[in-house]
Amino acid sequence: MGIAARLEKIRKELPSGVELILVSKTKSPEEILEAYDAGQRIFGESKVQELLPKTEKLPKDIQWHMVGHLQSNKVKYIVPFISLIHSVDSAKLLKVINKEGRKNNRTIPCLLQMHIADESSKFGMDHDELCQLLDSDTFKEMHHVEIRGLMGMATFTSDTEKVKAEFRQLRTSFDYIKQNQFSDQTSFREISMGMSDDYNIAIGQGSTMVRIGSAIFGER
Ligand SMILES: *Cc1c(COP(=O)(O)O)cnc(C)c1O
Repeated sequence: MGIAARLEKIRKELPSGVELILVSKTKSPEEILEAYDAGQRIFGESKVQELLPKTEKLPKDIQWHMVGHLQSNKVKYIVPFISLIHSVDSAKLLKVINKEGRKNNRTIPCLLQMHIADESSKFGMDHDELCQLLDSDTFKEMHHVEIRGLMGMATFTSDTEKVKAEFRQLRTSFDYIKQNQFSDQTSFREISMGMSDDYNIAIGQGSTMVRIGSAIFGER
């Protein structure tokens, strides 16, 4: 099966209301174009230095999402065009995104990344840190970011019950935060969870965005 066929197969599996973010890191512009020609318009990248040259070479109607850990000093390069930043993992980073958003006269759509896995190598805030950030006066003064929801990555394990419990934890935090902080705002509605090996489990727990790479593009 080629890229277009695998893309089509996974698209058919996804329930309505679940958006596919096709993660194209390490993949060439030619491979990305194959998916584009098959109708895909949302692509995810995890490194700014890889994303920038791709935006030059590829069609302008692609919506680029940042899914990987973002360093504060790189924010300025993506703020002019990025459609969604999934990986806001600290208050400091959100502050920088807001500042750059203001300079660009844009409001930047963001997801807050929550740490749900065992691995300390994965980034993100815990439930209390998320609540503190959203309760803070600094946050209330940020008018150039829009928090669209939460993102999380499960532990890399074959224990599906564990993965399921971690996604459920993300969902529970999402529901709590929605009710407490965003009850009057329809913009807070996304739960970005699920990758090639666990997207079905994530969908079962309420994912609205799956970030899939290797299951469509092949192994990296
Ligand atoms: C690479 C990556 C993905 C996609 O991973 P696959 O296992 O290839 O589907 C999803 N989310 C993030 C944050 C990634 O870095």
